[in-house]
Amino acid sequence: MNAESGMEILLESKEPTTRSIEFVRRAGERLGLGRGIINDIINPQRVTVFRLPVKFWGKVVVVWGCMSLHNDARGPYKGGVRIAPDVSIWETVELSRLMTLKTAVMDIEFGGGKTGIRADIREMYNIFGLRERNRDFEEAMSLDICEEFAAQFKWLFRDHIYVPAPDMGTGPAEMAFIYNQTLDPASVTGKPEGVHGWLPGRKESTGYGVSYAAKRLLEDILGLRVKGARVAIQGFGNVGMHAALFLAEQGAKVVAVADLYGGAYDPSGLDIQALARHAREAGTVAGFTTPITNKELLALDVDVLLPCAAGHVLNEENSKSVRAKGIVEGANMPTTLAGMDVLVEKGIPVIPDIIANAGGVVASMEEYSRSLSALKIRREDVLRTVTEKIDESLDAAMRQASEQKISMAEASVQIAIDRVYQAMKRRRLI
Ligand code: NAD
Repeated sequence: MNAESGMEILLESKEPTTRSIEFVRRAGERLGLGRGIINDIINPQRVTVFRLPVKFWGKVVVVWGCMSLHNDARGPYKGGVRIAPDVSIWETVELSRLMTLKTAVMDIEFGGGKTGIRADIREMYNIFGLRERNRDFEEAMSLDICEEFAAQFKWLFRDHIYVPAPDMGTGPAEMAFIYNQTLDPASVTGKPEGVHGWLPGRKESTGYGVSYAAKRLLEDILGLRVKGARVAIQGFGNVGMHAALFLAEQGAKVVAVADLYGGAYDPSGLDIQALARHAREAGTVAGFTTPITNKELLALDVDVLLPCAAGHVLNEENSKSVRAKGIVEGANMPTTLAGMDVLVEKGIPVIPDIIANAGGVVASMEEYSRSLSALKIRREDVLRTVTEKIDESLDAAMRQASEQKISMAEASVQIAIDRVYQAMKRRRLI
C-alpha cells in the first residue's frame, strides 16, 4: 500500500481517489505547490470515531459516527451532521474537505468539517418491532441521536472549534437539540425559528442558492430563460424541495422529481406546491402522479438537471446517458471524477457543488455572526447575500476556467486552495 496520510497509515486503508483529491492535486501543481503541501491540504487535521448509546423507549440503541475536522486555517471547522445508513469514514473525510473548499471559494471565514452518523433508521423498525412506516418514530430517533452526539461533543461546539449544521438526515429540529446541550446560540447553525440566534431564510438558503445557480446557468451560460425552462431534480429534501419551489415560482417547469422511494413525472410541469404538500404527508414524492425512476430522471432530456440528493450518483457509465443541457450540483459531490470527465467531454457545463450549494453556509455565517443580536435581519436580505456571494465566486470561477481552459469545477477548487494555502502559510501551519 502506498499510504500518503497519517490516517491512511493508521487505518491501513487507501482513501479512494475522489474528484476533490484529484482536483486539489492538479490545482496545487498548477499553483506550483510541493507534494507535501498538497497532501497537507488534502488531508484532514483531526478525525474522531465515536460510539453513541442512544436511549430510546427504554432500550439502548448503539450507533457509530465519525467527525472529520478537515481544515481550520481560515476559521472554525464548519460542516453538517449527516445521518444515513451508508456513512463511512472516507466519505465523511471527503465531505469535510468539500467544506474547506466551499468556505474558501465563497470567501467565508470558516474552515471545513463534517460529521457522519451511520444509522439505518428503517432497520431500527425491526429493533422496536414496528411494521409500518412511522414518521414520528423516525424523527424522534434522529433527534435522540443528535442529542447524544451533542452531549458528547458540546465542548467543541461551545468553544466554536467546530460549528455543526444540518445535512442529509438532519434539519432544524436536530439543531435545536444540539443547542439544548450547548445553550450557546453561535455553537450551531440551522436552528429553527424562535430558537435563540435563529436566522430568517437559513432553512431555504441552500435550495435558494441552487435555484439561483440554475438561473445563472440558464441565462448566462446556456442563453435560455428561466420561464419555461425544463428542470429535473433528484432529491426532494431541504435542498431539492426549496430549489424546486424557487424555480417554479419563477416560471420554470419542473418536469420530474425523484427521491429514495420513487419519483413523479409530468412533462407539462409538476405543481410543486401540491407536490410539497404530498411529500410532507406521505414522506415521499412517489404516488403523486406518473412515476419515474432515478435512473430515468438522470437521463431526461431537460434544460437543467439538479442532483440534490446523494453523492456519486453521476458516474462514468450513466453520465454518458445525460441529455440535460447543463447541471447544477445541489448535492455534495453528486458527480464522480470519471463522471465529470465524461460531462466535460460532452461539453455539458456543470456549476460545481462548492458554489452551487453554498447558500447554506453563507447563511450560516450570517446566523453565526448575528447570533447575539436582538435585531433580526430580514429573509430577503439573507437571500440577497446568498445571491451576491454566489455571483462573486461563480464569476471568478468562470474567469479562471476560461483563462486556464479548465472546467468550472477545477477552477473553483484552484481558487479555494490558493486561499487555504495562503492562510496556512500566514499562520505558520505549513
Ligand atoms: P435531506 O435529508 O433533507 O433530503 C435528501 C433527499 O434526497 C430526500 O428526498 C431523499 O429521499 C433523497 N435521497 C437520498 N438518497 C437518495 C438516493 N440514493 N437516490 C435518490 N434520492 C435520494 O437532505 P438535504 O439536506 O436536502 O441534502 C441533500 C444533499 O445536499 C446532500 O448531498 C447534502 O450533503 C447536500 N447539502 C445540504 C445542505 C443543507 O443545507 N441541508 C447544504 C449543502 C449541501
